[in-house]
Amino acid sequence: MPDTLLKVENLKKTYESSTGIVEAIGDISFAMHQGELVCIVGPSGCGKTTLLKCVAGLLRPTAGVIELDGQPVTDPPENMALVFQEYGRSLYPWLTVRGNVELPLRHKKLSRAERDRLIDDALHAVGLDHAAKSYPWQLSGGMQQRVAIARAVAYQPEVLIMDEPFAAVDAQTRADLEDLVRTLHRERGMSILFVTHDIDESVSLGERVVVLSKSPTWVQEDLHIDLPEDRDQITTRAMPRFTELRTHVYEQIQRAKRGEAVRAQG
Ligand code: ADP
Repeated sequence: MPDTLLKVENLKKTYESSTGIVEAIGDISFAMHQGELVCIVGPSGCGKTTLLKCVAGLLRPTAGVIELDGQPVTDPPENMALVFQEYGRSLYPWLTVRGNVELPLRHKKLSRAERDRLIDDALHAVGLDHAAKSYPWQLSGGMQQRVAIARAVAYQPEVLIMDEPFAAVDAQTRADLEDLVRTLHRERGMSILFVTHDIDESVSLGERVVVLSKSPTWVQEDLHIDLPEDRDQITTRAMPRFTELRTHVYEQIQRAKRGEAVRAQG
């Protein structure tokens, strides 16, 4: 069994608001191993954003433990990269594509040559070699999201967290970006925690799909996706097993929404 990379144990988060206490996350536990691609799905309002903010060290849990590489997460960890849905807000418009990819590397002690090599390699990996000198606003939404992904690839994080990264792009672009994520994972062994509300996306990308209950959240199911490693939009989605798995996850989410699933004790 590969090493545990990320551990979330008995995570609980309550918010105090003017209208009272909101128990957003009841009790979530799951672990992710080095080199895994794990998708998290759940009904809207189930606490996905809260969970990610805790994992990213941006929000302090009410109770429970989060560990990355055996170290407790109390602040944003250096060995983590994040890609959000709002690519427009995560890129700096006054920097070129190359400048945007380079930015986080400035905090690493690297020679100029090594930095350039990482940037060139990342731009090549996302298919943007030709756009290095462009500015983000000159690019389509899908290409801007590729820049955000290139920035994460160049940074070489231990884990890449993606929060509904393709929710704002058109269907064709989304399909291309999903294939890109699979390729990065397969060819570079990147460990990726991918949050989505799209059931098909979770099944086609993940090696595991963690289904969350409705709030106060717990892990309703941690499902192994036994599809072949080599996946693409057409072949994989045409497989009978894909249909079985997506139907299963869909039913689980319907149960979650209705609050029907009962949590096993112990
Ligand atoms: P998701 O990302 O799955 O839509 P969230 O993590 O945003 O879910 O929210 C989970 C629950 O916590 C919801 O009931 C939401 O209303 C509540 N919540 C989120 N942020 C706050 C906050 N700052 N104050 C009070 N309640 C919040």
